[in-house]
Amino acid sequence: MENVIIIGSGPAGLTAAIYAARANLAPLVFTGKELGGQIATTTEVENYPAFPDGITGPELTEAMKKQAEKFGARMELDEVVEVDLARSPLWLKTQLGEFETRALIIATGASPRRLGVPGEMQLIGRGVSYCATCDGFFFRGKHVLVVGGGDSALQESLFLTKFAEKVDIVHRRDQLRAGPALVERARKNEKIGYIWDSVVTEIKGEAKVQELTLKNVKTGEETQQPADGVFVYIGHIPNTQIFKGHLAMNEEGYLEVDERLHTSVPGVFAAGEAHDHWFRQAIVSAGYGCMAAMEAEKYLASLELA
Ligand code: NAP
Repeated sequence: MENVIIIGSGPAGLTAAIYAARANLAPLVFTGKELGGQIATTTEVENYPAFPDGITGPELTEAMKKQAEKFGARMELDEVVEVDLARSPLWLKTQLGEFETRALIIATGASPRRLGVPGEMQLIGRGVSYCATCDGFFFRGKHVLVVGGGDSALQESLFLTKFAEKVDIVHRRDQLRAGPALVERARKNEKIGYIWDSVVTEIKGEAKVQELTLKNVKTGEETQQPADGVFVYIGHIPNTQIFKGHLAMNEEGYLEVDERLHTSVPGVFAAGEAHDHWFRQAIVSAGYGCMAAMEAEKYLASLELA
């Protein structure tokens, strides 16, 4: 029987592990198939406090893991495939076995929705990005495309104009989904252009992105669009599928939590992008990890008193 199990090894999960371990709870962390969350796929992290010269995503992940292990956290490169949160203690099944725990911290994060077109996966980190805050800096003086028509696409396009020479937004309709304030700000920005009624059907390039095939959804016509990079903002998918029917979540699958990160089941806490669809920053997720661990500790103490 475990005191606390943490699912996920991005900044939220690993920070929760540091705090839970320092509270002498010897947390067990299921890292998932790979260590680190979305941050581990980022080459250079330049906005995480305390690293003035930047740090790579994998280095940041490794440092957090080492810090958690130093205080007694145990890491398992294993994936949780099923849960029963109606049981007491809480029950989890992973690919390697079954586990029981008094408290659970869900830090499974979210994954950016992919375009699902040829070339996309091969060119991630080589011109294909899902994070302008992380990668925009590398496109100084370049021409980039942004895919999507929501608030994220517009906000990140505006951010990218700080670096890029030209930002063209590729949207599948001829009307933006984004709110009027952002639409107006983008309209006033001379670096931003629009390619309406179009979807990306292929991303081409050898070592890096060189060209995209765009298809006009109204005429069916395909054109080749040269570009140095493409930023995809077509929504995120929270990694919460295994909790469906067990925990309250909104229609998009984001877990519902109160202000102290308690989910709908006592003893189960959520931290990071599994519930936060707004900020999506490593430092914010780390903060949530800290909060969830502190709440889990309080919860376990209350069980002992009962
Ligand atoms: P979103 O509002 O869901 O917008 C996703 C965009 O991607 C939509 O324009 C959608 O097109 C398009 N899209 C979806 N699937 C696609 C596909 N397979 N191929 C091509 N295009 C596709 O997502 P978001 O912009 O990330 O925003 C998420 C939430 O955060 C929203 O509630 C938003 O208001 C909020 N947010 C707010 C701000 C802000 O106010 N500053 C900033 C960021 C996010 P359609 O329009 O045709 O559906």
